Amino acid sequence: MKTKNHWAEIRTDYEDDFFRRVDAWKTDDDNEEGEVIAQVDMLTGRIVYINPLARIDEAAQEAIRSLVDEAKKEHPYQSPSPETDKHPLPPETEKLISTLTAYAKQYREPPYGREIDGTSELLEQAASALKEALDGIAGMKNRYMDGMLVHYQGDDADDGIECPVCGYEVAQNDDYNNTKPKHCPECGTKLIY
Ligand SMILES: [Zn+2]
Repeated sequence: MKTKNHWAEIRTDYEDDFFRRVDAWKTDDDNEEGEVIAQVDMLTGRIVYINPLARIDEAAQEAIRSLVDEAKKEHPYQSPSPETDKHPLPPETEKLISTLTAYAKQYREPPYGREIDGTSELLEQAASALKEALDGIAGMKNRYMDGMLVHYQGDDADDGIECPVCGYEVAQNDDYNNTKPKHCPECGTKLIY
C-alpha cells in the first residue's frame, strides 16, 4: 500500500491516565477540531489505533514509534501480574479489549454524537470474538461437566471402551460399572457409558 501523509499536523503531548494521545489535524487552520488517531499506553508501550489510516501514515507511524520508545525507556521492566500471566489471553484478544476500551473513552468525550472511524468493524470483531469465546465455554462445559458418550470398540466382553476425545482405553465391556472411571484419566473428559 502506498504511504502518504494524511494529516498536516500531528501532536502527541496530551496524556490521560497514562494513555498518550496522538492527535492529528487535516489542515493548518487553527479553528479545525483535531482528531485522535491513536493512543499509546505509556505503561506498556501498547498501541491502540483509533483511525486505521494511522497504521499506514508515515508521519503518524513516526510519532507513534517515538512514543513507544519513550514508554519503553520509562518502564523498561515489565512486571507481569502473576494472576494474568497464569492464563495469558491471546494477543489479538488483548488488543481487541484495549481497542474497545479506547473507543468507549472516545465516545464519552466531546464532540458527542459523532461516529468514530472503524466502529462498525470493531463491533463486528467484538461480536465474533464473543461468539468464539462462548462457543469455547460451551465446548468445555459439554466435555468436562455434561460428559460425552464413550466409544465402544465392539460387543465382546474383552473389547475396550475408549475416551471419545483422546482415544485412551478407559475400561473393558466386562468391567464392573463401579470400576469404570467417571473421567478419562488421560485428558479429564467426563465419560457417559
Ligand atoms: Zn481422554
